[in-house]
Amino acid sequence: MQPGGGAYICGEETALLESLEGKRGNPRNKPPFPAVWGLYGCPTVVNNVETIADIPWIVNHGGDAYAAIGVGKSTGTKLISACGNINKPGVYEIELGITVEDFIYSDEYCGGIANGRELKAVVAGGSSVPILPKNLILTTANNEKRLMTYESLSDGGFATGTMLGSGGFIVFDDQQCIVRNLWNFSRFYHHESCGQCSPCREGTGWMEKVLHRIEYGHGKMEDIDLLVSIAKNIEGKTICPLGEAAAWPVASAIRHFRAEFEAHVKNPDSCCKKHLHRELVHSH
Ligand code: SF4
Repeated sequence: MQPGGGAYICGEETALLESLEGKRGNPRNKPPFPAVWGLYGCPTVVNNVETIADIPWIVNHGGDAYAAIGVGKSTGTKLISACGNINKPGVYEIELGITVEDFIYSDEYCGGIANGRELKAVVAGGSSVPILPKNLILTTANNEKRLMTYESLSDGGFATGTMLGSGGFIVFDDQQCIVRNLWNFSRFYHHESCGQCSPCREGTGWMEKVLHRIEYGHGKMEDIDLLVSIAKNIEGKTICPLGEAAAWPVASAIRHFRAEFEAHVKNPDSCCKKHLHRELVHSH
């Protein structure tokens, strides 16, 4: 047993190996991949706990039985960690292939939107994947019910789809401010960037600052396209996927909720005054 240092980036497999070797948890350039050059230079298999936890069931029941669960290439079960504005937050083991609508609204899982509010948006696979508004998370662009599968959630590419990712399923009700939530995500990724690559190290900080000024009423209309440009200049130009993890939510939020960003610039008091007021109340 080797305790980790607590850094988010050490969930990236090569950063994890560096950390295990007693070094700073910086992701490695790949290739070589860990199966060729892993811990102390030896071939290494890195799996997460979820995968390992499936093994006893597969040994007992057989691989075919496990593969028979699910739809298409999305076979087996998946742990979904559901949180946000839902009645029943928690970790659910689902059979891949149920509809997103069932997952959100059925009593077996999330139990619907809390306090009788309406669904506004969902981040389906952890804070690093594109955010989708209600209409696109429940149905695909072809008007089919969106399923909790790798294929269905990514249907439409990033224009209208997202990713199942880590299974961190965050639900936003109609009172949630997209700009404020994005600023929160960006703060996190800026803090967690290991700093090796300039696009990620500098870009996450720029996104955080620009989102902060939009959120706090000092934004300019051109800041919205500036954010898109920063996100584009991070994507695909970094050693590990943390860069994309920071860029995709911002780019998708502007794609689907641009009007909300514009409203913040035109009338900063329109949405977030209640948050600012709450912070003031709590600080006294
Ligand atoms: S993308 Fe970010 S976290 Fe990943 S190696 Fe580069 S600087 Fe570090």
